[in-house]
Amino acid sequence: MKLKNYLRKSVDNISNNNNLNKFLQFLKINTVILNYHRVLNDSEFNEEIRPDNDLVVSKSIFEKQINFIKENFNPISINKISEEADYKKKRIVITFDDGYLDNLNNALPILKKYECPAIIYITTSFLDNKDHAWWLKIWELILNNEEITYNKNKFDTSSLEKKRKSYSFFCKKIILMKKKDQKTFFDNLIFDNKTKTFEKKLLFLSSDNLEYLSKEDLIEIGCHTHYHQNLNILNEEETTNEIKISKDILEKILQRKINHFSIPFGTKETYSSKTINIIASQGFKTNVTANYDLFKKNNILKIPRIGIGNNDIGSRLNSKLIGFDSLINKLFR
Ligand SMILES: [Zn+2]
Repeated sequence: MKLKNYLRKSVDNISNNNNLNKFLQFLKINTVILNYHRVLNDSEFNEEIRPDNDLVVSKSIFEKQINFIKENFNPISINKISEEADYKKKRIVITFDDGYLDNLNNALPILKKYECPAIIYITTSFLDNKDHAWWLKIWELILNNEEITYNKNKFDTSSLEKKRKSYSFFCKKIILMKKKDQKTFFDNLIFDNKTKTFEKKLLFLSSDNLEYLSKEDLIEIGCHTHYHQNLNILNEEETTNEIKISKDILEKILQRKINHFSIPFGTKETYSSKTINIIASQGFKTNVTANYDLFKKNNILKIPRIGIGNNDIGSRLNSKLIGFDSLINKLFR
């Protein structure tokens, strides 16, 4: 583990090296898929305390990253991922998960400015802010309370460090709950902590936003299930429904076929080969995961992605974009 981190650091410093690039070309690492979630205004970014810093970038950093990609790489649409690659410039696919409103307000103008294609994977229950993501609900509760009662146990959430610790504890529990159990969990939490229901901020895209976005040539829309449940704890019928309901809603709104899928959470613990078979049977052409691995053209139903955060600039960003960071991760896993 230490060696991996050491190599990562060294790689950050040498990743501009030409020979290294040639070596990566030799390994046929020609496409890197990036995973974004939210792009916040700089003021919001600085004000908000979040536990998920690696999932959020500020608008100014996002612009720097996209500018760097446009100048040094070949940003392509996910629709072109199966096409033969031109090895002169590494191809970059930009993806966003969940369907946040800031993708439209903050990311789109920058993507348009630099003519960078991207895909946004929509969780359809979040559309029009009908539902609210559980990871935001639990963080809101922890953030606004000095102490949390859960199952008659008290959790000290009086400092930022303790808040983060509790957040991580609850996330590990909730990710293993089906939607109906999540509802009971939150109902009990609200009751035990005498707190109000969670504030419904308008964080997600509306159906109208979606229609607008889909008319943009640079933007592709993909499916990210209906309730964003961990598909590995659902049975075959439940998994099929989670995917089919979402695909049907998107196709009804956009009046066209939805060809691309993104597994909720996307780590190896959240899907199986059965999940992949169901995704294929629903007619999706590609599927992305959150596995930190190298892209192989013959496996477009398990595409690995690299999370990009606010600290990914300069040589650190370059190391991720040329695929060297993934290679190190693969070799020293
Ligand atoms: Zn997601």
